Amino acid sequence: MLEASHRYFHQAADVLDLSPKVREVLLTPNRVIKVDIVEEADDGQLMHYTGFRVQHNSARGPCKGGLRYHPTMDEDHASALANLMTWKTAIVDVPFGGAKGGIDCDPSQMSRFELERVTRRFVDQCKEVIGPTIDIPAPDVNTNADVMAWIMDEYSRYAGFSPGVVTGKPLHLFGSEGRDEATGRGVMYALEEALRDCGKDLAGTTVALQGFGNVGSHAARMIAERGGKIVAVADHMGGVANEAGLDVPSLVDYAAEHRTVAGFSGGDAIEGASIITWPADVLIPAALEDAIDAKNAGEVQAKIIVEAANAPTTPEADAILKQKDVLIVPDILANAGGVTVSYFEWAQNIQQFRWELDRVNAELEKRMRRAYQSVREIAEAKNTDLRTAAFVLAIQRVGRAALSRRAVRETIDFG
Ligand code: GLU
Repeated sequence: MLEASHRYFHQAADVLDLSPKVREVLLTPNRVIKVDIVEEADDGQLMHYTGFRVQHNSARGPCKGGLRYHPTMDEDHASALANLMTWKTAIVDVPFGGAKGGIDCDPSQMSRFELERVTRRFVDQCKEVIGPTIDIPAPDVNTNADVMAWIMDEYSRYAGFSPGVVTGKPLHLFGSEGRDEATGRGVMYALEEALRDCGKDLAGTTVALQGFGNVGSHAARMIAERGGKIVAVADHMGGVANEAGLDVPSLVDYAAEHRTVAGFSGGDAIEGASIITWPADVLIPAALEDAIDAKNAGEVQAKIIVEAANAPTTPEADAILKQKDVLIVPDILANAGGVTVSYFEWAQNIQQFRWELDRVNAELEKRMRRAYQSVREIAEAKNTDLRTAAFVLAIQRVGRAALSRRAVRETIDFG
């Protein structure tokens, strides 16, 4: 996975004509943390996990990024995703660097109390290297506001009252209005911008969606509210399709109860894997990495892909889709709404001042549309796809910030 994220970086570094040394410096993480987590399960047996935190780059501010609880979590995953966070925070121009981490546990097999113990142990092991001005975790796959609240509580025992150590907290515990739906809302804005580039709008646009967790379900709801038609949704258990458009609010209720969209009666059952090649104007992968690969990319029917997940398209698939003239809004742009509102939450925590929802949403919309337009301008000027342009913009911002922090004799030009 790390190798794939580096390949996208190098495509942009080629456009900027960066030297091998500068590339190496920009790709190397500042700090890699690996901790042992031993706790007791509810039945008295030992639980043994490994926790990871990779702080990739802090040239533009404290490191920022989610915590993922998943059996596949390892150093390679954390590094690749931390790397993406550095570019993502630069694209939406929030004053953070990039980080990512997590624990190789499976929360679906754990009780709430086991999860809390494991989370507290992780914080205990990392407390010297996280903090409101050092590294600020947030939710990611299988983590939520509860987990963030435990992190804040555990860290505050050590450092004193510190709501700004973590974002994505519950609203009643120093969270922000609009954070929960922010990534999905940003995906919707990114899609609107992409449609505008194609001379279209959301009304009547058909969408196939992979993943119906926090990001996918909020994106689906907002797209449908604006006239888009969600014609198929799938997750790891199966999927459902309806040519006339699925009733998204009912699907949200169903998924909340059954923890899957499979079995929903408002459409026909479909195989989960078929979602990638489903006939629709737009495909939104909102699940895990590598969903679109060399095997299925050739069969993709959508003309626009909005990457709500992190790293859902392999570089091989990306090349195939480019040949098919599919417009891809890359992850580091499309799903940046979450970290954008994390920034607003952190700013509110630092200032001890609460924003209203209208302000959060208006600022988010402004930043997402501006980011999209900046990326598109670079794509036009450099004659590249949106992903390469997004990396170019990010590398320029990170590189210039890093260069300004110290006097360097070598001439390094970020274009
Ligand atoms: N986990 C989210 C992401 O991948 C949010 C990170 C954050 O808010 O810090 O962008």
